[in-house]
Amino acid sequence: TVNPATEEVICRVAEADSRDVDLAVAAARRAFDEGPWPRMKVADRCRTVRRIGDLILQNLEELAHLESLDTGKPITESREGDIPRAANNFHFFADFVEGLASESHPVDDVALNYTAREPAGVAGLITPWNLPLYLETWKVAPCLATGNTCVLKPAELTPLTAAKLAELTQEAGVPPGVFNVVQGFGPNAAGSALCEHPGVDLISFTGETTTGRAIMAAAAPTLKRLSFELGGKGANIVFADADLEEAVATSLRAAFRNQGQICLAGSRLLVEKSIYDKFLEKFVAAARQIIVGDPMDPKTQMGALIGKEHWERVRGYIETAKKEGGRVLCGGDRPAQPSRGYFLQPTVIDGVAPEATVCQEEIFGPVVTVVPFGSEEEAVKIANGTRYGLSSVVWTRDVKRAHRVAARLKSGLVWVNCWFLRDLRTPFGGYKQSGLGREGGRHSVEFYSELKNVCIKLQ
Ligand code: NAD
Repeated sequence: TVNPATEEVICRVAEADSRDVDLAVAAARRAFDEGPWPRMKVADRCRTVRRIGDLILQNLEELAHLESLDTGKPITESREGDIPRAANNFHFFADFVEGLASESHPVDDVALNYTAREPAGVAGLITPWNLPLYLETWKVAPCLATGNTCVLKPAELTPLTAAKLAELTQEAGVPPGVFNVVQGFGPNAAGSALCEHPGVDLISFTGETTTGRAIMAAAAPTLKRLSFELGGKGANIVFADADLEEAVATSLRAAFRNQGQICLAGSRLLVEKSIYDKFLEKFVAAARQIIVGDPMDPKTQMGALIGKEHWERVRGYIETAKKEGGRVLCGGDRPAQPSRGYFLQPTVIDGVAPEATVCQEEIFGPVVTVVPFGSEEEAVKIANGTRYGLSSVVWTRDVKRAHRVAARLKSGLVWVNCWFLRDLRTPFGGYKQSGLGREGGRHSVEFYSELKNVCIKLQ
């Protein structure tokens, strides 16, 4: 695995193949069918899950360091964002699952129905490289808390924190076979082997839309239950009556946080014509101020992109934008310093039509397009005009407009006057080709559970 900020090898990682996946699934299967974990008292199981969160916090410095080494993201983001959030996933789902009740439906004095919730089985969990530990634990925590066992396949580009997580789950007292990690590639490798495996009951996947299609096909013969969190092309709509300072500051984070490598990124800025020039002037000036550099320096605000191939892909989109009539208002290439590593300046492009490639395809880098609009109607039409539907942002002081626009946006998450404000109880997922199903709170619990209705005749 390579440090994207220095292009140097950090360490070597053993690559799992389909035989390793067989071993991992067999261990998870045994632990599910015969082991104590699914049968444990819920309070005891949740105590163990909570302990994993505690151990993440106790190892915060090491985990933050590993995450930034592996991904190139600023150390402050790992330390204050990704890693504490990963711990919180365990704390949240331990509490949430422990507090669950079940339904009952009495039929007068004739019969009583009650619903029993059981763990669903062995889960295959497949995750991307952009927020490694955070997104892995977003699946592992509800999966384990509800009594399932699992095989996690982290992204091949970011194996380090998942390996550490395996150590911590052991230390927390999770029984053998309950949590397994296979490090390896996706297609024709560990990833697809997991999706095809008859011993796996459900797959939760976060990654690209095209990968989602391949996984769905691979899982079809064994009819696995699927949950997909896929790509996004978030519209960030700024109306003329918005609080401009706040809209600029938050839109900047939405565009460039984690080097723009976030599914929820506000990568399409739509700005009302009457404030277009004023907004853009402030936005571009602020983008130029972002400190790009060594991820380990606490002053750094933007680190390196994940790797060479991805850097070239993102850079290629900037060229495509120019061919499509785009004007690069700032950024567009690597910064003068650091001289090595996959760094790219924050890039703002306007002059492109809403139908342009760069306004339609997920770039997944520090590149934001800006498009003007004349009316609420037009803003909604442009916002809904892609195959994605994960998240949108609306900036307005008009409460009626906020509700109207939120209702019309075809996206799973709508933020009004904010971005990335998360409550783990709420449904998280996408419309259209941004996903399948929802995660978060009871939505995650439902995915990882089988429900059984028991009907007892009373007379
Ligand atoms: P990716 O789809 O290339 O890879 C994700 C994971 O899938 C990796 O572990 C990879 O090895 C595995 N994989 C690839 N092909 C596979 C196959 N055929 N069978 C089984 N597994 C396979 O995605 P990425 O490049 O790592 O991540 C970026 C993408 O993830 C972006 O599209 C982004 O929007 C999306 N994402 C979505 C969310 C969300 O919650 N909706 C969150 C983060 C990232």
